[in-house]
Amino acid sequence: METRYVGRFAPSPSGYLHMGNLLAMLLAWLDCRANGGRMVLRMEDLDPVRTRPEYAQAIADDLRWMGLDWDEGYPDPAWCQSRRTDLYDEAFHALEEKGLVYPCWCSRAQRLAAANAPHPGEKDHDPRCRCAHMTDSARAERLANDRPPAWKARTPDEVVSVPDGHYGLFAENLAQAGDFILRRADGVYAYQLAVSVDDMRMGVNHVIRGRDLLSSAPRQSWLIGELGGTPPAYCHLPLLTGGDGKLSKRVGSQSTETLRSRYEPEELVGKLAYLAGLIPQDAPMAAAELVPLFSWEKIPREDIPVGQVE
Ligand code: GLU
Repeated sequence: METRYVGRFAPSPSGYLHMGNLLAMLLAWLDCRANGGRMVLRMEDLDPVRTRPEYAQAIADDLRWMGLDWDEGYPDPAWCQSRRTDLYDEAFHALEEKGLVYPCWCSRAQRLAAANAPHPGEKDHDPRCRCAHMTDSARAERLANDRPPAWKARTPDEVVSVPDGHYGLFAENLAQAGDFILRRADGVYAYQLAVSVDDMRMGVNHVIRGRDLLSSAPRQSWLIGELGGTPPAYCHLPLLTGGDGKLSKRVGSQSTETLRSRYEPEELVGKLAYLAGLIPQDAPMAAAELVPLFSWEKIPREDIPVGQVE
């Protein structure tokens, strides 16, 4: 029997959505519905400092306002990252058992310096910080006496290739890209671990999101493999930019609060569909009407300037 398509919305409720998020949500929904899939809404409210329940509520309202529905998920707490710590603990311990986790006391500045590209003439550049090289006894001594550390994944010196449905093969040597944080010093699990565990445990097999996260796909794919799962298919989409090709403040500041006061839902959906190349002109469209018109072939790979339609 063929596995059913399971897609997801995975917003972080750290603010209102903006046009770029809405485009990602629209395309994720269209791809899922065009494939007869099941859509889930996972709230990525891991960080208690940056996220707020009011934003989660506003995001769910905005999705409904746009005509984007989901079959399972928020507000059921089982689909909110803040309520899934037990599952992250379990995965973290499984990785620890495999020797893939180590504590790190470096400051942010030290981490960045270690991750920098090698200087000309510098041979055998080691992208790892010194915490990766501690002896077991030094580590035990520091764990007993020092402040709480962050916990990092010990990545393999191995190229992980992810076939992206829109950008083609994306390959990266994980060790060269650098060990990454699984759990912060304050105990909060990091994005890479939570997303990988959730995509795996929620049966998500299609991930559609902005290309700013393409470089995370090899790490997530590797983590899922180490945890005994099968990585999802990834398809990344271009970002919205200002006329100058940079991510503009103006684009970023167009939150749904502003957008909802300026446009009817169908006007905004039509505008996004036009920007993505799904329809030939900027005309009102219901999300459901776009399902038969959806195709990745129409969507550009270059980032999309939004200036002309604002
Ligand atoms: N929560 C992330 C965001 O809003 C998206 C995570 C993902 O799609 O993997 O940027």
